[in-house]
Formats: sequence, structure tokens, C-alpha cells
Amino acid sequence: MKTKIIIAGPRGKMGSEAVWMVHNEASFELAACIDRINDGKTLKDIESLPALNVPIFEDPEQCFQEIDADVLIDLTVPEVGFEHTKLALLYDIRPVVGTSGFSKEQIDALEDLSITHGTGCIIAPNFAVGAVLMMAFAKKAAKYLPDVEIVEQHHDQKLDAPSGTAVKTANMIAETRKSKQQGHPDEKETLEGARGASTDGIHIHSVRLPGLIAHQEVLFGGPGQTLTIRHDSYNRASFMEGVKLSVTKVMELNELVYGLENILE
Ligand code: NAP
Repeated sequence: MKTKIIIAGPRGKMGSEAVWMVHNEASFELAACIDRINDGKTLKDIESLPALNVPIFEDPEQCFQEIDADVLIDLTVPEVGFEHTKLALLYDIRPVVGTSGFSKEQIDALEDLSITHGTGCIIAPNFAVGAVLMMAFAKKAAKYLPDVEIVEQHHDQKLDAPSGTAVKTANMIAETRKSKQQGHPDEKETLEGARGASTDGIHIHSVRLPGLIAHQEVLFGGPGQTLTIRHDSYNRASFMEGVKLSVTKVMELNELVYGLENILE
């Protein structure tokens, strides 16, 4: 039986990629879309999306009431993404959320709701399997090479810096790395910010340029050697394997899982 899916944000860069992924996946069926415009239309009315008779709803609650669906994929903005996720859980539709920027309180509230309803939910700030592996390898390496700096590079439309992935990498590294202040103890910045941001003594440098998508290097240094772990997302298709895996996995869950690394075997 096919997994019936609702996608919120189908005209967005990630959402449109997800629409095509679901359309091309034999075991998935696109049941409906939630959009803030185009109410009452179908997907075939929207340029550059597959010509399907899939209904579009502006009101998420109406969508969840009228459409028989197993999973909601949300790729919107944090304010509405949170409301969509909450509502989906109330209707026992399992959310797979790529929308980034939820607060800890929001995630805790969704976790409570997920447990109360026994409805699975996956929230993943990074769906690129390679990025998740980069973080896991960096955590492992930091145990042996505690001198480490992170350089993350993103497109110049990104609003937040450093990226959530860079912060998460630093947090994961901090779990295995002996805490230390790096660089010369008398180091001084002659230009403010030259050494980047610092969390737990780990420096993070953020590059923003047109042409980039999402890239990160974790550089380790030791006597006479360096180790570089690098991940590049060249386009948004890089995130879709993780979305696909999450849709399959969320059907087996009855609680909330945060982070793709927690569903990779
Ligand atoms: P985007 O191109 O700006 O798409 C966002 C979509 O959300 C648009 O279709 C937008 O509609 C819609 N939207 C905005 N406000 C809305 C509202 N009030 N109600 C309903 N829909 C609304 O952004 P994107 O690059 O696709 O990213 C989408 C989300 O995924 C972001 O949170 C981003 O940080 C996150 N992201 C996650 C990953 C991951 O691996 N987890 C990777 C990349 C991005 P309009 O066009 O009308 O504004």
C-alpha cells in the first residue's frame, strides 16, 4: 500500500523538490498540498510542478479533515510550520519536518503531543545524509584531535549565521573533545571577528556568497598533520534522500525523533 502524503510549501525551493520526489517514488502518493495561495486549485494549475489533479488547500485544518493521509511533509517557515505540525499530530497524520528555526519550547510541546497521541514525528534541521555523517565523523575525530575549527559556507540569502548545522557540529564535537581554548593564549584580533564565532573554544567561520548552496568543512590539526572532513550540498536534491527515508521511518514511530542521525542505522 502506498504512503499517502500531504506537502506544505509546494512552491518553495525545498517543497517543489519534495513534490517531484514524492511523484517519482513508486511507494508514495501525493494526496494534497497546503499553500498560502491557490486554494481550490490543483497542482496542475501551478507552473513547474507535475500536472496532477492533487488538491491545494489554504486552510491546513480543512486539508487534514478532508484528505485521508499518512504523512505531512512541512517545508515552510517556522511560524506556520509549527502550527501545521501541531495540527497534523492532532489529526494523527505523521509529520516529517524540514522547516528550520523551531524553538526548544516548540519542539518540547510537539514531543508531548506526539507521545500523547502515539503519533510518530521526525524533525530534521538537515536532511542531507552526507552532512549527518560529516557531523558523526567529526565527533569521532575530535576525541583524538581536539584542535578543530569549522568553516561553513552558504548562499547569500541565508538569514542566520552560523548555520544550525555548524552549531550542531560544534555541540556534537564538544561531547567527545576535551574542552580547551585554541590558538595562542595572547592572540588578539586586529580586525574584529577575524577569528570567527566561538562556542566552547571551537571557532566557527561563516561564508555567504551567491552561487553557494550549503557546504561545511571541519578542520582538525595535530603535530605535523591536519584532517579535513568536508560536505557539499550542490542542490536541493541532496536533501531528498533524507526526506524519503524519514517518510518511511516515521510510519514505524509513535514518538518524536529530532535529527536524521537518530534514524540512520
Ligand atoms: P522557500 O523557497 O522560501 O520556501 C518556503 C515556502 O513556504 C514557500 O512556498 C512560501 O510561500 C511558504 N510560506 C511562507 N510563509 C508561509 C505561510 N505563512 N503560510 C504558508 N506557506 C508559507 O524556502 P526553502 O529554501 O524551500 O526552505 C523551506 C524551509 O526548509 C526553511 O525553513 C529552510 O530553512 C528549511 N530547509 C531545511 C533543510 C533541511 O535539510 N532540513 C534544507 C534546506 C532548507 P511564498 O512563496 O508564498 O512565500
